Amino acid sequence: MKAVVTGGAGFIGSHLCELLLQQGCSVTAVDNFETGRESNLAPFRDHARFSLVNHDICEPDGLAVSFRDADWVFHLAGLADIVPSIEKPDRYFACNVRGTLNVLQLARDAGVKRFVYAASSSCYGIPDIFPTPETAEIRPQYPYALTKRMGEELVMHWARVYQLPALSLRLFNVYGPRSRTTGAYGAVFGVFLAQKLNGKPYTVVGDGEQTRDFTFVTDVARAFIAAAESERVERIYNVGSGNHYSINRLVSLLEGPVSYIPKRPGEPDCTFADTRRIRSELAWAPAVSFEDGVAQMLAAIQNWAGAPVWDAEGIKAATASWFRHLGAKS
Ligand code: UDP
Repeated sequence: MKAVVTGGAGFIGSHLCELLLQQGCSVTAVDNFETGRESNLAPFRDHARFSLVNHDICEPDGLAVSFRDADWVFHLAGLADIVPSIEKPDRYFACNVRGTLNVLQLARDAGVKRFVYAASSSCYGIPDIFPTPETAEIRPQYPYALTKRMGEELVMHWARVYQLPALSLRLFNVYGPRSRTTGAYGAVFGVFLAQKLNGKPYTVVGDGEQTRDFTFVTDVARAFIAAAESERVERIYNVGSGNHYSINRLVSLLEGPVSYIPKRPGEPDCTFADTRRIRSELAWAPAVSFEDGVAQMLAAIQNWAGAPVWDAEGIKAATASWFRHLGAKS
């Protein structure tokens, strides 16, 4: 199989490239290195079946050659993070919506056998039902969530209208080695690991009793391959760990002092995927327990040595636009 992975130098994309190579595929990673990193590719950069194309999906001219003869396209390229999406929604639209359209056209022109899209569980916003099924109401709370959902709508539309054999995976709180260590205030693991390394307290939001469906990145990579190998088309699947864990539980595993910061507007008290559909239709199940996943993060903690160390004041300043815009309605 020949696979193209957009966002292949990113956190999840690089794990997917690595697993595809292990399974005997030829892999072309397409990445513009805006948030992707060379270091993520290091374990397989010199593999004979791996090639890297430094290209922005927003500028598709010249990309068709990289998609030629591709069997599978995995579309993971995109902009993440909430605060920058509130401040620069046009960039998120260009990359996550228009960029997805470009990749769909490239895949269609190449006649690929499977197209798998990395969607986000943030489309559910603050849901009414737990565990949350794929049929739950769509309620994006901020431009990142909206643009990832719009990308998913494009994918499903291309499946329907152009018979592109496409699937979408709604990922729940993915964590693991190679998650981002720089830039904007973001996912909780990177924030806490940098704080631990520097002997600073963990900035726990609210009372820490909120829970997240933390899903380990290698399990997510396996879900992408299970999707590519299936015969299903035009279908959406939740990808979750089968459980949900409080921030206080995470802190107790990491060990160390805590400081409390205000609850953020628009964020759910719980994320928890209903995974019955992916388990039954794709025969996928998560394999890494939360305890083992956290242990692997601690073993890799030196990766966060240069990461920004957030404190309550820094987070207050960094999330000002979040509170201003999303707090207005509450
Ligand atoms: N969180 C926290 N302290 C932080 C950052 C996040 O307690 O400094 C909590 C946050 O309230 C949420 C969980 O960690 O319950 C996951 O947050 P993240 O931003 O990683 O993901 P999301 O909120 O988008 O699910």
